[in-house]
Amino acid sequence: MATKVILSGATGFIAQHVVKELLDKDYKVVATVRSSGKGDHLLKLFNSPNLSYEVVEDVAQAGAFDKVLQNNQDATIFIHTASPFHFKTDDVAKDLLEPAVEGTKNALKAIEKYGKNIQKVVITSSYAAIATAKDSVDPKAVINEKDWNQITREEAIANPFHGYRASKTFAEKAAWDFVKEHESKFILSTVNPTFVFGPQLFDSEVKENLNTSSEAINVITKLQPEDAIPSFKGGWVDVRDVAKAHLVAFENPKAEHQRLLMNSGKFTEQSIVDLVREKFPELKNVPIGNPGAGLRAIEETLATIDNSKTKEILGFELIDFEKSVADSVQQIIDVRKSKSQL
Ligand code: NDP
Repeated sequence: MATKVILSGATGFIAQHVVKELLDKDYKVVATVRSSGKGDHLLKLFNSPNLSYEVVEDVAQAGAFDKVLQNNQDATIFIHTASPFHFKTDDVAKDLLEPAVEGTKNALKAIEKYGKNIQKVVITSSYAAIATAKDSVDPKAVINEKDWNQITREEAIANPFHGYRASKTFAEKAAWDFVKEHESKFILSTVNPTFVFGPQLFDSEVKENLNTSSEAINVITKLQPEDAIPSFKGGWVDVRDVAKAHLVAFENPKAEHQRLLMNSGKFTEQSIVDLVREKFPELKNVPIGNPGAGLRAIEETLATIDNSKTKEILGFELIDFEKSVADSVQQIIDVRKSKSQL
């Protein structure tokens, strides 16, 4: 009998790639989505008899996952990806911290109560839960799977950027604390990606504005010569590798109780601009900026991310920057072209 996996937040950018990996490997997937409209859309996209959905309107609501676990007692794996990833809020506590932390706790409480067959739980955490902001921009710092973001609640509510980073930190901490306090039978692992690039799984999901991390590339493709290049930098990893890591997290015994720090390399918006200008002559409006400055900024202003332990557990090569960015940009261009021909 096929192994049944429950996956929360299945409409998301990363989660859709996880669904694909799971279906490709013949898992049965129960996707949680926020409405039946979103669920029906997902079923149409995947067109697979092994995919079904349950509605969880808001992961932050008490008991949010109880019905899902009650209805799927034969599930053995639970993957929790649902969490807000945006910076559009005036109320960090309500819109970012609460859904991240309470959503994670609600999932674990439901598993503890009703998921008697759940053996493994994988939570999509983040590099944001690993790196303290000031260390991530210290070229002398070396950051690895053992580190924790030291952000406080006071710092968290200062602005949505800190708020998002704190939401991932507090949620992941809550998960490890929960497992310890309840002496849970299931085994927890987390996947902690840096900024996630790469194409949307389906061309039809390429809209004018994309999910937060993909928008970092999309925004470059829309720049006009007089525009300033946004200033942004950090670690990055391809979505297809992040999706595969979610399966490694529960399939490979070496990943048990581990945090998989998913990072392929480092970028600045200028390094994306340089690549776009080199590979995509049709995007001739993208301003030239200061070619090569991105690479220097990476060397001079970003910490070393040491994820050698994770790479050993993964056992596969990570997609490189050129391919990840080029595949993302090519998809955006193709979709724009196809829309203009309608
Ligand atoms: P998306 O915004 O594409 O996906 C987020 C998903 O979570 C969506 O399905 C969304 O549903 C759902 N969701 C958000 N809030 C709630 C809520 N209150 N109740 C129910 N569902 C909710 O983002 P990504 O795919 O990029 O992110 C997925 C996960 O990966 C998140 O946990 C994020 O923190 C983490 N992550 C992402 C990184 C990245 O660079 N992309 C880097 C590191 C970690 P809906 O769309 O219907 O609102």
